[in-house]
Amino acid sequence: MTDFGLFIDGEWTAGSSGQTVPVLNPATEEILGHLPLATPADLDRAVAAAVRGFAVWRAIPIAERVAILHQAADILTSRADRVGRVMTLEQGKPFKEARGEVARVANALRWDADDARRAYGRIIPTADDTVLSVRHEPVGPVAAFTPWNFPAGSPMRKIAAALSAGCSIVIKASEETPGTACELVRCFTEAGVPAGVLNLVFGDPAEVSRHLIAQPEIRLVAFTGSIPVGKLLAAHAGSEMKPCLMELGGHAPVIVCADADPVVAARKAAFAKFVNAGQVCTSPSRFLVHEDVYDEFVTEFVAAADRVRVGDGLDDGVTMGPLANPRRLKAMEELVTDAVSRGANLVRGGERIDRAGFFFAPTVLTDVPADARVMTEEPFGPIAPIVSFRDLDDAIDIANSLPYGLAAYGFTRSSATAEKLIRRFEAGILSINHCGGSVHEAPSGGVKQSGYGKEGGPEGLEGYLVTKRVSHLLVD
Ligand code: NAD
Repeated sequence: MTDFGLFIDGEWTAGSSGQTVPVLNPATEEILGHLPLATPADLDRAVAAAVRGFAVWRAIPIAERVAILHQAADILTSRADRVGRVMTLEQGKPFKEARGEVARVANALRWDADDARRAYGRIIPTADDTVLSVRHEPVGPVAAFTPWNFPAGSPMRKIAAALSAGCSIVIKASEETPGTACELVRCFTEAGVPAGVLNLVFGDPAEVSRHLIAQPEIRLVAFTGSIPVGKLLAAHAGSEMKPCLMELGGHAPVIVCADADPVVAARKAAFAKFVNAGQVCTSPSRFLVHEDVYDEFVTEFVAAADRVRVGDGLDDGVTMGPLANPRRLKAMEELVTDAVSRGANLVRGGERIDRAGFFFAPTVLTDVPADARVMTEEPFGPIAPIVSFRDLDDAIDIANSLPYGLAAYGFTRSSATAEKLIRRFEAGILSINHCGGSVHEAPSGGVKQSGYGKEGGPEGLEGYLVTKRVSHLLVD
């Protein structure tokens, strides 16, 4: 396992209080190490460092900044095995997935760094001697808060965009998966990112976020996590009139139409469902299947669930690890009990696996009534509730009936039906005939209560820039 620490003003520190929390391996429940927590004084030092770091970093020529960020990406790539192992130990996902996540985030960093070269402004023709221009500048020191489900992916989205845009950052990564974040920070510092530009803290999440957001020097708040916490942080930021980027949860519908291949749809949807044990904000989580193909879909989906090999993510051949923490186990148990008590059929799983670690069986529920909690609450775990429909418009209405709108999936052979789904799905991330994962070239983000602001693509960088309109009257 790696060493844990706070990284403030270019130095690793154990914080000023000496207070720590244990970090657990969710596959064994063993303690991996003790994580120091920041005090308000530590946070103030981090903000002061970020202010100095911002002044230094934004003044470095873009080509040099990009070269440093590429160097960080290369270091990270060369450590994919090591960082992937740390991630599996503290989060539980299979090592192959963890290593893949590391490789992906290194590429995302490269992409953001290169995209920063294209943060073009524009000159607007005028009728007189004024030069009217639009310019983009880094917003300033950023406070970011990231969860535990993608221990490299979530922090890197924020760090890559902030540093590429020329901002500094104070990031509070998850206290449950701190080792991966520490490993990322080491890559940046070894690549030559100056002191103060990137600061990593841990602590009591509510206290840290309240304290950081209130600091006038913090110019942007970026959060990935649950909708209730997102609303809380957006309210804090709103009271200071600070912009926010909110990447929140959803409850992604999958509509399988009568003309779709139910076997292919079931295989693809089941794969996406059980990746990272369903702890993915875009995980397919409500399956609406046309009655003509319902039985075939369910049969194949159950077969796919049976093929999932649950175990310690470090063991060969394991395709689904434990849940990341005991809170998710409890949530899964409650959702299944509720659905069954309301008349759903429990076809597979539905319970904790009897061994050490936070393992929950891949679970399939069919004929789930609309009032079951799992149909309206994001399960964020390996539960697949499947229901049938007769009329596509009804299915689309059900898909759009929740106040969330992150991801949505549709399966159909008809281009007209596909286009209907694309136009009518109220979601920010759509996939047709597959379950597409996140890509760094294109923006990800939700609509409705799933948040605002984007991660990835040119839109991702835009969130970290401010726009200035400059009208310059030429005088002799
Ligand atoms: P939670 O809502 O308590 O926490 C979610 C994340 O936010 C955690 O990383 C936590 O440390 C952080 N957090 C909590 N309170 C905070 C605060 N006041 N200030 C700053 N950060 C704070 O829930 P949880 O039990 O960790 O996760 C459960 C739910 O969170 C899931 O059901 C899912 O909906 C959501 N979640 C979403 C994502 C995502 O990628 N959008 C990731 C993880 C969790």
